[in-house]
Amino acid sequence: MKLIFERSFEGRFNDILPKLDVPAATVPEEHQRVISPRLPEVSQPEISRHYTALAKETHGVNDGFYPLGSCTMKYNPKLNDEMAGLKGFTDIHPLQPLETVQGALSVFTELEKTLCEVTGMDHMTFQPAAGAHGELTALLMIKAYHVSRGDTKRTKIIIPDSAHGTNPASASMVGFETVNVPSNEKGCVDLEALKAVIGDDTAGLMLTNPNTLGIFEPNILEITSLIHKAGGLNYYDGANLNPIMGVVRPGDMGFDVVHLNIHKTFSTPHGGGGPGSGPIGCKEVLFNFLPTDYPVVADEMRVWHQSQKSIGRVKAFYGHFLVMVRALTYVKTLGSDGMKEAAMTAVLNANYLRASLKDTFEIPYDGLCMHEFVISLKDLKKETAVSALDFAKSLLDYDVHPPTMYFPMTVPEALMLEPTETETKETLDEVITLYRDLHERALKEPDELLSAPHHTTIKRVDEVKAARHPILRYAFKNE
Ligand SMILES: *Cc1c(COP(=O)(O)O)cnc(C)c1O
Repeated sequence: MKLIFERSFEGRFNDILPKLDVPAATVPEEHQRVISPRLPEVSQPEISRHYTALAKETHGVNDGFYPLGSCTMKYNPKLNDEMAGLKGFTDIHPLQPLETVQGALSVFTELEKTLCEVTGMDHMTFQPAAGAHGELTALLMIKAYHVSRGDTKRTKIIIPDSAHGTNPASASMVGFETVNVPSNEKGCVDLEALKAVIGDDTAGLMLTNPNTLGIFEPNILEITSLIHKAGGLNYYDGANLNPIMGVVRPGDMGFDVVHLNIHKTFSTPHGGGGPGSGPIGCKEVLFNFLPTDYPVVADEMRVWHQSQKSIGRVKAFYGHFLVMVRALTYVKTLGSDGMKEAAMTAVLNANYLRASLKDTFEIPYDGLCMHEFVISLKDLKKETAVSALDFAKSLLDYDVHPPTMYFPMTVPEALMLEPTETETKETLDEVITLYRDLHERALKEPDELLSAPHHTTIKRVDEVKAARHPILRYAFKNE
């Protein structure tokens, strides 16, 4: 595929910018650039073809199966986008007088009410822009809580070894020391190991439940109560909320603060598909530390509340507002019964896939799973040299997105599958056949998998080189 710079032809141009509708501003001379930027010069059809070609090279939920474990790549209903495109939502500005945006503010209060009901929390802020940002926000709140009580010796956050990498990263960014707890042979938190690291320096625990192996922690109440008894707070990584929404609530499991991945559980686009949202829900004890501003109703008007103890602002204005409109549309469409049914179907689909693959593949923590499960290709690799990476690359030849790889790190040669509730049985059956066929081929003709993919535009890339020496800038010929 040609780069946009390679399509460029000097003097060719197009005019797709609208007319200036605000007074022209003059850039002070010292800030004016001396050399004009080297922009590609292309016609409007060329631009259109460029982006269409790029779009065709990507794989999204609208293209096919996308079982990226822990990422919950569910279908994003188009109705959500229609609602987010309403002029009443798109043509407003955060600095507009409050009485003119009461409807928009009710999106926050309505969604807060619903999501607090789902999570068992008392309050929620929508400022954080993604899950990891929510973690950071919640840890800042946990820190502020301890400091406000003069309890400054609490410097440690306990995190199980199966946790998402963002958990220890967020804790470190807030200045906490992270303490790792190993999992037991069932893939769950080892209670004895946990007890051994809890102390009067414990600020809190970060836990994903169901965990990254797709297993619901059987000792969840004991785990959270051990932390509470030691004076710490419990943080729930809500990335795996999908299989439990409408069924059980983090708030009832002993958690004080949770983040949600709106772009995972609540069906708004991910990553390149659009901005995310990682709201934080908390119990009453943490209310005053929530980021400023917080929507409340006063004198029959929705206004912004500012707390003296707030950790401050973590995002410009109020977060990604239109993502919340999409999420509100989703929860209103499903209703409480629908949400529960979605969760149960996610669990059913994952178990159907797991049960159908378990005779062919090694599933280290077998038994009923929640929304996802993990396969290990350790033995296959030993026998044939075909690794999890090779298997994933082979899937690309069949227009099937690979599952999450090499995560959790507690499983060697891991492939983590999360089909989600929006896949049909026919799709799952096709995928089961493909996985079995590829496994057989790995045994018979391993070279084919070792050199895959064969039918994609870009074949096997040197991943280390791509990560270490990325080329991010076009090199013009005469430079
Ligand atoms: C996705 C995920 C996160 C981080 O969420 P982002 O929205 O990608 O920042 C954290 N924890 C777990 C378990 C996740 O799956």
